Amino acid sequence: MENNIALRTWLDEFKLDHPLVIAGPCSAETEEQVLKIAHELKDSDVSIYRAGIWKPRTRPGGFEGVGAIGLKWLQKAKAETGLLMATEVANATHVKLALEHDIDVLWIGARTTVNPFAVQEIADALAGTDKIVLVKNPVNPDLALWLGGVERLYNAGIKKLGVIHRGFSTYEKTKYRNIPEWQLAIELQNKFPDLPLICDPSHITGRRDMIQEVSQQALDLNYDGLIIETHTDPDNAWSDAAQQVTPTTLKKIFEDLRVRKETGQGHDYDSKMATLRINIDDFDNKIIEILGKRMAVAGQIGSLKKEFNVAVLQNRRWNEILDKMTAQGAEKGLSQDFIVDIFKAIHQESISHQEKIINTK
Ligand code: PEP
Ligand code: MN
Repeated sequence: MENNIALRTWLDEFKLDHPLVIAGPCSAETEEQVLKIAHELKDSDVSIYRAGIWKPRTRPGGFEGVGAIGLKWLQKAKAETGLLMATEVANATHVKLALEHDIDVLWIGARTTVNPFAVQEIADALAGTDKIVLVKNPVNPDLALWLGGVERLYNAGIKKLGVIHRGFSTYEKTKYRNIPEWQLAIELQNKFPDLPLICDPSHITGRRDMIQEVSQQALDLNYDGLIIETHTDPDNAWSDAAQQVTPTTLKKIFEDLRVRKETGQGHDYDSKMATLRINIDDFDNKIIEILGKRMAVAGQIGSLKKEFNVAVLQNRRWNEILDKMTAQGAEKGLSQDFIVDIFKAIHQESISHQEKIINTK
């Protein structure tokens, strides 16, 4: 796929003086719900209405979407509000049905992008159409897989393309539902500055109180748009209740967002600095998460020492750690003094944790 200004023509055609906004419920639930939310979003910054009809659920038994009937509700919502309609497709049958119901924007979900067979099937089913297709990042942080998905569509002749950054799964619990790993999306943006990049703060955060903050970060990084799950009764939503906001909150979020005026492609000082700072914040978050986990393990060691009545301080073990870490640090260009200082502090904190445990009755 060559880098090509034509890739963003569809976005330019909206003639917006603000980032593109896609909003609507995680899932279409009932006709009334679909229409009510669409009407509340009609006179706002929202250009595209989203609603999942087929819902990929991690485990069976959850609400798996209303199915094709929901496409009729979206058609009605479009007729009544003029908003463009978007839904997720995961196979050729979904594509066929979505095309039959004149859905304007199709997105490929994170669980589908991981599977080249599925993406190819979707690309083949879309060949010859002029739909806008947005590819969510795969659940695992693999830039090639994400790009590969876009290329399969491009090779099938789909030119109205974009990507949605919805964060990545991790085994460890973090403050995010899906950690952003901003540097990955930025790398994609640097490689293909003409490929519209949309942030999905709803699936990145999993919590409505963090939507504003992550949306602002995305705008600071020159993202082209946001997709935000919006529901008139978020707490009672049939899926992703914790992360949906009301249309009123969505409007407030947009009032409070600082939208960068420059439409430079991320090469100016501010945007480069924002990128670097967000990278630093990502790493700092990880350092704290890891230190927390390390201390929890130190606590378990403390309990074990207590049970077997062993002394807290084990000098030989400590010296081994220090030797290993200074050698490893040197490979990364970190000075011996720095590593010794850091590990002394960490070790001291571990010992305090262990002493606290050993001294509790
Ligand atoms: C969604 O947008 O509701 C969805 C299922 O997203 P993802 O594929 O990012 O999990
Ligand atoms: Mn969702």
